[in-house]
Amino acid sequence: MIVVPVGLGERAYEVLVGPGARHELASLVARALPDTVRRVAVVTQDLGIEVDPGVEHRTFTIPSGEEAKSMATVEALCSGFARWGMSRRDAVVAVGGGMVTDVGGFAASVYHRGIPVVHVSTTLLGQIDAAIGGKTGVNLAEGKNLVGTFWQPSGVICDTDLLETLPPGEWRSGLGELAKYHFLGGDPDGRALDALAIDEQVAACVRIKAAVVAADEREAALGAGSGRGPGREVLNYGHTLAHAIETAGGYGMRHGEAVAVGLVYAAELARELGRIDDARVAEHRRVVAGYDLPMRVPDGLAGDELIDLFGRDKKALDGITFVLDGPDGVEPVTGVARAAMEAALERVR
Ligand code: NAD
Repeated sequence: MIVVPVGLGERAYEVLVGPGARHELASLVARALPDTVRRVAVVTQDLGIEVDPGVEHRTFTIPSGEEAKSMATVEALCSGFARWGMSRRDAVVAVGGGMVTDVGGFAASVYHRGIPVVHVSTTLLGQIDAAIGGKTGVNLAEGKNLVGTFWQPSGVICDTDLLETLPPGEWRSGLGELAKYHFLGGDPDGRALDALAIDEQVAACVRIKAAVVAADEREAALGAGSGRGPGREVLNYGHTLAHAIETAGGYGMRHGEAVAVGLVYAAELARELGRIDDARVAEHRRVVAGYDLPMRVPDGLAGDELIDLFGRDKKALDGITFVLDGPDGVEPVTGVARAAMEAALERVR
């Protein structure tokens, strides 16, 4: 078992990573939750994954899919909590992928003005991203993740055995984010991320996300020069082109695949700007290919359309902010000339 601490002062918590880690839930609950906690609401989907929180519990099943990541689902959950008589002295355990930890975390953050939550993450994307960092949320008809809170979990479990049942598409969706972490620091001992066993890869990603979150808990995007380590925006590495591809219609690409193309694009753009050399671009291509992920923009997407969409990226602060590799590592970069964006785009066709 690998234990990764998330250093957030009085909100600090542990992430347990490894095969069979879900069996540590009862001991994590006993250790991490206040000893006043009497009962636990297990929020999950129909996944056939059993957990034992070690205290009295009841299971609340929510539907799958982004459509169910809604205020209606949160309301139904909170009504269920109330009917069961849950009080401020009870807690939530969310067991599932990013959808479940986002919804379960949000419900926990608003029920009785906030009760503790523990996440048991069951997807690759959830384990390396969604379950760590305390962002919760639901979608509105007007857009994704428009309503949410920052609500740190009291502990997180990433059981890598659970990944074995993931449908191939969900696995690939997580791989793009995994590839991203390769360029955000990789393994603490300097080993290439993609050379590690899967539980070590997950733990390395969790460590990187934990460091980013600890430096910038509420996405103040302090960034380079703040003296407080990298801002959260580095987690957006590869996402500017990815979001543009997805907004333009997705073209059958999953999020992780679009991120993979976005990583190669970001490398090409960084080289175009003289920030990195050919070898570093080749490393991006090698890593992305190693995860068997795509490196080209889908046919039928016009360059102009994609570049126009860059400006609508929600992370755009002034003009277009790219997140690019360079001599000081991955960091936000503004003022990129359109000609450079176009030239780099030609190399991912
Ligand atoms: P998901 O939670 O929708 O899960 C994908 C599918 O896999 C679902 O049908 C689910 O039922 C199924 N599944 C889950 N675990 C399984 C298992 N072990 N075996 C078999 N099937 C399993 O998708 P996701 O990719 O985990 O998460 C995506 C969500 O996470 C999005 O809503 C996104 O907005 C959110 N997210 C949040 C953050 C954050 O910081 N809070 C970060 C990234 C993504």
